[in-house]
Amino acid sequence: MDFTLNTYRKLLSALRNAGYVFVTFEEWCEGKKDGKIVILRHDIDRNANRSQAIANIEKEQGIKSTYYFRAGKAEEQTDIIRKIVALGHEVGYHYDELSIFKGDYSKSIAHFQSQLIYFRQFYPVRTICMHGSPASKYDNRDLWKKFDYHDSGIIGEPYFDFLTPENLNKGMLYFTDTARMWDGGKYNVRDKAFIAEKTSTQNKVHIHSTFDLINWLEKNDAPNTIMITSHPQRWTDNLFDWLVELISQSLKNKLKRLFLISH
Ligand SMILES: [Zn+2]
Repeated sequence: MDFTLNTYRKLLSALRNAGYVFVTFEEWCEGKKDGKIVILRHDIDRNANRSQAIANIEKEQGIKSTYYFRAGKAEEQTDIIRKIVALGHEVGYHYDELSIFKGDYSKSIAHFQSQLIYFRQFYPVRTICMHGSPASKYDNRDLWKKFDYHDSGIIGEPYFDFLTPENLNKGMLYFTDTARMWDGGKYNVRDKAFIAEKTSTQNKVHIHSTFDLINWLEKNDAPNTIMITSHPQRWTDNLFDWLVELISQSLKNKLKRLFLISH
């Protein structure tokens, strides 16, 4: 079965066996870029408590990764944020102000800064990452057309600092489990898995499941720098939760296709 905790363990082992060093996005931004590097990024869109299992597995294996939390769930998130920080992981902010405030830039930047203050009670947040807000007409990244996140002490945002044409040309690679598959580009409203798709075509490998990704890593033809984004709520050993994820994601994928066709 894919998207179980055991499959996640296997993915980590495959990365380690392929010679990758695990760094947080913050460390990468600070210059830890030499050798074979993998950044494990976790976007916590919902069910924050389900991140604990993934965070524990990484800790057991001596791995540090990056967890992006969203606004608005403060009470239920506080406990899990503290636990993830205690395990040695990086915590950042998964911002979506322009969709929340329907394009109001001054409300958005004020809210963004208040959220940074909130998250910095737990971790000295230095990186942020947009939430894709697939159902919204606003692209949350547009906030940075008017403001500069560096002014808030932020050193990195994956869509501006990692997923750039220069990095793509250098062969850096990006995978995301958006749409509950690793090649879900056609279901993807904003977080295009374009780099993975390009490389898949070039290398004539088709990476759909986590097992495909593991097989490809075992062949040792993956590039030196990879970012892998996963949504921890998908990864579970609880059969009921696993089935709910499977069914709700296939419905969501159908809706996203309709949305993308109509736009
Ligand atoms: Zn998100």
